[in-house]
Amino acid sequence: MSAKYVFVTGGVVSSLGKGLAAASIGCLLESRGLRVNLMKFDPYLNVDPGTMSPFQHGEVFVTDDGAETDLDLGHYERFTHAPLSRDNNHTTGRIYEQIILKERRGDYLGKTVQVIPHVTNEIKNAMRKVSSNGADVTIVEIGGTVGDIESLPFLEAIRQMRQELGRENTVFVHLTLVPWIAAAQELKTKPTQHSVKELLSIGIQADVLLCRSERPLSREIKQKIAAFCNVEERAVIGARTVPSIYEVPLCFAAEGVDALILKYLHKEAPEANLTEWKALVDRCYHPRDDVSIAIVGKYVEYEDSYKSLKEALTHGAVSQNLKLNVTWIEAEGLESKTPEDRSYEPQLEGFDGILVPGGFGKRGIEGMLNAIRYAREKQVPYFGICLGMQTACIEFARNVCGLKDANSSEFDPASQHRIIYKLRELLGVEEMGGTMRLGAWTCILQEGSLAASAYGATEISERHRHRYEFNREYEALLTGAGLRISGATPDATYVEIVELPGHPYFLGCQFHPEFKSKPLEPHPLFREFIIASYKNHKGRLAVETNDASTLTNVLSS
Ligand code: GLN
Repeated sequence: MSAKYVFVTGGVVSSLGKGLAAASIGCLLESRGLRVNLMKFDPYLNVDPGTMSPFQHGEVFVTDDGAETDLDLGHYERFTHAPLSRDNNHTTGRIYEQIILKERRGDYLGKTVQVIPHVTNEIKNAMRKVSSNGADVTIVEIGGTVGDIESLPFLEAIRQMRQELGRENTVFVHLTLVPWIAAAQELKTKPTQHSVKELLSIGIQADVLLCRSERPLSREIKQKIAAFCNVEERAVIGARTVPSIYEVPLCFAAEGVDALILKYLHKEAPEANLTEWKALVDRCYHPRDDVSIAIVGKYVEYEDSYKSLKEALTHGAVSQNLKLNVTWIEAEGLESKTPEDRSYEPQLEGFDGILVPGGFGKRGIEGMLNAIRYAREKQVPYFGICLGMQTACIEFARNVCGLKDANSSEFDPASQHRIIYKLRELLGVEEMGGTMRLGAWTCILQEGSLAASAYGATEISERHRHRYEFNREYEALLTGAGLRISGATPDATYVEIVELPGHPYFLGCQFHPEFKSKPLEPHPLFREFIIASYKNHKGRLAVETNDASTLTNVLSS
């Protein structure tokens, strides 16, 4: 049986949510009992997004095998169970890197190396590798917008794929914009027509049009788009903006996207079972209460930098039927001139929980330390992720153990007390990405710890992306003063989790748990952080309203 592909392209403008559309199609096909795989081609020349600033490209998503990938792979993992690895994300840079390597090795035997066929062949091989993994349907997202010079080789490759595999094995889904023009009080179809024409000019006739619009598409609009764009009327899908991204698969299902794709692919499948997704969306839209979390970081003005984090917090909140309110606080704004200066405190008041996420570089560190001190002293639930764990250790060393210049060698290489340092360099570990510890690592949890009780297990696997580590020379001092090391690698080389017994929730982890949280499988550490934060919320409310019985309940629960 031939492999089947859904190719997702985008037109008109970027940021229409192509990744989410691809993920939602994957979710729908999975809900019909099919095995899906998803992959993305990014037209930029960086070999991977690992070295790009989060401001430029948003979060770098990390897979189990340690690939640093585009954040759309995060959507794929959250919406499906597709097994993703470095094979599922390719950039132009990576494709060319492989070709140039082969050329230098003499693999092309005196031939002229060209975009067609050599680049396109490399792209097609990458698709075949992913689809040969046992998937019923492989969904391939082409980054960028149709009409860009950079994406041409990818579009040519998918055109060839249809030529080779036939119509019954390939579907072209095109995401476009149908803007509402206030002056005319009309939805306009012209940008969509142009985009479909642009695709056609390179030999690709779109089969399904996902039309992003702020208003529902009327029958007339759909007929018009169908007629001008040469697609079936029912293949013009209104993809309106919805309050929760988790509603997108349900919207697509209501418009019959899955049935249509399966028809085009000549594939039978059972009816979709979306019961759990429906219940999830219902919980999103009917929360019983709110929970408010402050995220103290350095890339806060660009939310995409912390995409998976925001999602994981949402999963935790929705699992408790709570609405998540996130306030992003720029860490630099919390810095103080002297240790006695606590003028930043009002900025941290009124939150149910405080979180310091991952990050690189020195900027904002002192502000993060102040936020952590506040959470520790005032018994506000604290969750520190990667950098947030390292700073929690530094804060504890400084303010509890009295090591005033405790630091990470990342921020102060000359510090006397390097609580956090580059252990891998000392161990002589060299690998791709320099000395970065990347991808899945096993972690053993201490019995009876907060971590072990959250996970309900004592052996876990989580994903990493960092260079610096906890310095075990300071272990005795810090644990003697009350910090608990509750997770470490099986050989005990690396400290993975620290927590503070007696505090309602104070936990820092060296890994990035946010990468593994799914809406239907909220990550245990996020779930427990939200539960503790909500308890704090209820407790504060009871104190404010002098409600003794609630307070007793909250404290004893
Ligand atoms: N900058 C720190 C390190 O490299 C933390 C990295 C992170 O938070 N992902 O170790």
